[in-house]
Amino acid sequence: MPGFEWFGNEERKEVADVLDTGVLFRFGFDQARQEHWKAKTFEIELAKRIGAGHALLCSSGTAALSIALATCGVGAGDEVIVPPFTFIATIEAVLNAGAVPVFAEIDETLCLDPKSVKAAITPRTKAVLPVHMCGAMARIDEIKDICTQKGLILIEDACQAVGGTLNGKALGTFGNMGCFSFDAVKTITCGEGGAVVTDEQQLYLTADAYADHGHDHIGNDRGAEGHPILGNNFRISELNAAVGLAQLRKLDQILDTQRKHKAAIKTAIKKFDGITFRCVPDEEGDSATFLSFFLPDETKAKQVITEFGQAGIDGCFYWYSNNWHYYRQWEHLKNLSSAASLPITLVKGLPDYRNLSLNRSDHIMSKLISMQIKLSWSDDDLNRRIEKIEGILKHSSFAP
Ligand SMILES: *Cc1c(COP(=O)(O)O)cnc(C)c1O
Repeated sequence: MPGFEWFGNEERKEVADVLDTGVLFRFGFDQARQEHWKAKTFEIELAKRIGAGHALLCSSGTAALSIALATCGVGAGDEVIVPPFTFIATIEAVLNAGAVPVFAEIDETLCLDPKSVKAAITPRTKAVLPVHMCGAMARIDEIKDICTQKGLILIEDACQAVGGTLNGKALGTFGNMGCFSFDAVKTITCGEGGAVVTDEQQLYLTADAYADHGHDHIGNDRGAEGHPILGNNFRISELNAAVGLAQLRKLDQILDTQRKHKAAIKTAIKKFDGITFRCVPDEEGDSATFLSFFLPDETKAKQVITEFGQAGIDGCFYWYSNNWHYYRQWEHLKNLSSAASLPITLVKGLPDYRNLSLNRSDHIMSKLISMQIKLSWSDDDLNRRIEKIEGILKHSSFAP
């Protein structure tokens, strides 16, 4: 998963360019910056790489979600359909927009189940926000069809899935807007950073203004720019963009390596009866940051994850109970614990998340183990890892 495993002279050179000029700001200073436009260059190369009309780099994946929601007009009282398996940022962004997160079930893709999305639609539904979780895709074509039929906005949280595709089309480019994260542990990293992408020029222009206090960025004099809307500051610095630019140029190499490592482990695990894999609608398009598989039941999943831990097989996740990526552990959401009071009108419109019960998702997640795929493994590391995994699975009977 993490691009930081591969920092090298490429990142150093890009950062040095910025430090040499002293221009850390992404706009203006045309003379002083000596042609170095790291954020702008990143945007052009990202849009080209994933086949999006426009890309806007911003300060984080969470910022990207907030920008996308605001830009698409999702605000006070609107319902947004979200999955229960995601990083909490997805839910926080919806709440921060003043909108109501409405949970639908996931299916064996570990992403939103299109049927459950349909069932969750009400007259107040404004948008659907699927998450391409753990590097692979939701049934985004089916979800898009539902949004088109029902006139709903589609925003993709592709924060964990840069470089992933469905039938050759990049994740993040199916919806009205797509969001990426380049935080410290993502596939490629800026240290902190994110991006929104869209094919619609007006959305791009609104996002570009919103992320920088409403500046319209017309002309060469920042002080004289117009401010058509109120906005926020979700800008990225040139230093972060510089790191990310070098990383973006390694994306294909990163994906190749992840896919190779994932395939080797998958081939080894496949031999064991009773183990099944996460449903990936287009295996070729999996960015392969994780290998996710199901044991026959919760007891066996817990047994295996424990044994993996004892054997020193690192980077294994049992999200169902041990991690902060699943709704069962979101006590802060259930109690609506916030630093300051949430708007009373928002609170009145929220369901009681303490009563939230998603049986189908629970059933799926309780059997799931995810294994992080690293870039830095040598062939020896990989072989030793596979031996350990096989040793554990061999001693256990997984027939359901
Ligand atoms: C990482 C992540 C985010 C937030 O990204 P940051 O850059 O850390 O703000 C949002 N959604 C998902 C699914 C993520 O994994």
